[in-house]
Amino acid sequence: MKIKKNDTVVVVAGNDKSARGRVKKVFPATGRAIVEGVNFVKRHTKPRKQGDKSGILEMEAPVHHSNLMVVCAKCDKGVRVGTRRLADGHRARVCKSCGEMLDKA
Ligand SMILES: [Zn+2]
Repeated sequence: MKIKKNDTVVVVAGNDKSARGRVKKVFPATGRAIVEGVNFVKRHTKPRKQGDKSGILEMEAPVHHSNLMVVCAKCDKGVRVGTRRLADGHRARVCKSCGEMLDKA
């Protein structure tokens, strides 16, 4: 999965298509990610322990990475992601459209 925490991503399919948000959490095992402001679901909750709130709670549900694309700041759109090996041996993600580095040093 090419999406990492704190990436800005755009949704390319589904109800929130074309919405942008920051990645709050990734789940590599399921290939999903929670994106800020995307894919809200309502949860009806009862207080289970002291201090819990009851009622209908809206929260973001994980989105499958195939429905997301990383946004390149330079292209200002969702782009395909490649990797490039740096001089120090580390790998950095790059925008396949303009070649811009997506990971900061
Ligand atoms: Zn780009």
